[in-house]
Amino acid sequence: MITIKSDAQIDYMRKANQIVRDTLNLLRDHTKPGVSTYELNRLAHEYILSQGATPSFLNYHGFPASICVSVDCEVVHGIPSKKKILKEGQIVSYDCGAIFNGWHGDAARTVGVGLISPECQQLIDVTEQCFFKAVNSIVAGVTRLGDIGYIIQTYAESFGYGVVRELVGHGIGREMHEDPEVPNFGSAGRGIRISEGMTLAIEPMINMGTERVDWMSDGWTVKTRDRKPSAHYENTIAITSNGIEILSL
Ligand code: MG
Ligand code: MG
Repeated sequence: MITIKSDAQIDYMRKANQIVRDTLNLLRDHTKPGVSTYELNRLAHEYILSQGATPSFLNYHGFPASICVSVDCEVVHGIPSKKKILKEGQIVSYDCGAIFNGWHGDAARTVGVGLISPECQQLIDVTEQCFFKAVNSIVAGVTRLGDIGYIIQTYAESFGYGVVRELVGHGIGREMHEDPEVPNFGSAGRGIRISEGMTLAIEPMINMGTERVDWMSDGWTVKTRDRKPSAHYENTIAITSNGIEILSL
């Protein structure tokens, strides 16, 4: 069931998402060679609490940390660890969620560690562009979910990239994952129409090579099957009477 949010409810979600955005900016600013993903998780955890919010990922289905940190070929759901030390030239995806007054925010960014290759920079840029091309196309009451997937998929594939199939965007509100699913692939003109009051987390996960992924034995980490790099870019958006608002920017 898709839940429609009032302006007051979207206000709470705006606050949750601003905390997520600021946490991601903090993580970006602390991304450098030599830092452990454990330390980055600690920074994020303390910042979210300092804002009067709760890190929604911690203990979510047993996830053991407050953020997901996924390096290079890790697509999503990487577990922070003292043993994982960032190195120059890597790319790192941060996925962060927070709950404020019972309402969720969810967003993700991929950033380079020090100097990265032009190929990795392009992957990061195109993944971000996928999000904006899709979101900028939305006309409330007209655009369908399939249009979103179609735009993301055709743009990513025009660079020879793979679009992850097993993981998708989602509705968000009182729960982190609500209906509908928002795939990053699909056919134009298919699926339900996007309408006023919906709040969606749109999150392209784009692989430099194959779209195929493997699930690791830790029960969480997802890697590209060819172990080439992957990038992730996510924001929570609200469809309001004033148009599309990106709550986590
Ligand atoms: Mg997320
Ligand atoms: Mg999400």
